[in-house]
Amino acid sequence: LLVKALVVDKEAHDVRLEERPDPQPRPGEALVGVRMAGICGTDLELAQGYLDFGGVIGHEFVGRVEACDSAPEWVGRRVVAELNCACGECATCRRGLALHCERRTVLGIQGRDGALAERLAVPVANLHEVPAAVGDEHAVFTEPLAAALEVLEQVHVCPSHEVLLLGDGRIAQLVAQVLLLTGCELTACGRHEAKLALMRRRGARTVLAEELPERRFDVVVEATGRPDGPAQAVAHCRARGTVVLKTTVHGSAGVPAVPVVVDEITVVGSRCGPFQAALRLLEGGAIEVTQLISGIYPLPRAREAFAYARGREVLKVLVDAVHDGV
Ligand SMILES: [Zn+2]
Ligand SMILES: [Zn+2]
Repeated sequence: LLVKALVVDKEAHDVRLEERPDPQPRPGEALVGVRMAGICGTDLELAQGYLDFGGVIGHEFVGRVEACDSAPEWVGRRVVAELNCACGECATCRRGLALHCERRTVLGIQGRDGALAERLAVPVANLHEVPAAVGDEHAVFTEPLAAALEVLEQVHVCPSHEVLLLGDGRIAQLVAQVLLLTGCELTACGRHEAKLALMRRRGARTVLAEELPERRFDVVVEATGRPDGPAQAVAHCRARGTVVLKTTVHGSAGVPAVPVVVDEITVVGSRCGPFQAALRLLEGGAIEVTQLISGIYPLPRAREAFAYARGREVLKVLVDAVHDGV
């Protein structure tokens, strides 16, 4: 049996659709039929050679468990899955930091095939059942929303804080909504008026990048996806304030040490976050994701979806792996 899958084409610095052998789940893994998958900034970077990944791309998805020998109670359930697959045995895992496992594989990013395919194999330990009230088009946002929530898991943002968010893209949109849940005074700074307008509708103040005033903030979250983002974040953080770095960028210019030391700024790196909280927020409607969907493509046109996702005005592009209509 062959399945359609979108793989990184290393030579072309692009992606291509392939027919591949059906994934074979190992002990402790489930075979999941993908329903819908999302394309994020990391995927766009991977396609261009980031991390030298060469497998099936995609790590944001919702699917249905088709087979699971080790835990048959999962079969038939609609699920999302965490992307980091831990070994469970290394020193880091034994300290309870499975997300940072030294020998981890990561769905669609490192050493393991991902979700822009008809099926994939996922460790049962990574699965979360999706509440019936959360449709596929919303459930596919669980992973990036969890990543946005990680900011609040790490930093205590108070209602009285003045917070600056740098960036207006896919992840920044979710970070903005999450930060607004705290009641803080949020200023979002970006380069796309239509994207900033979405944030304004949720209650953020917005400013175009070239008009960002000199002032400093209690907390600055950097989600620009640009190499100069970290330095800009530090420049706008007050003494004893906190900078949260949310994006991984190829060739980042890095964090300037002198202002961090002199102003005693806390710099926090932030990656993956709590899936259950993300599912609760999607179920309760506290986070609005419909407006972030720029387009939905059937799996056979996934390469086209990828090209579209690179567009300047585009936010989330989804790939529908169930309805193969062209
Ligand atoms: Zn992602
Ligand atoms: Zn480990």
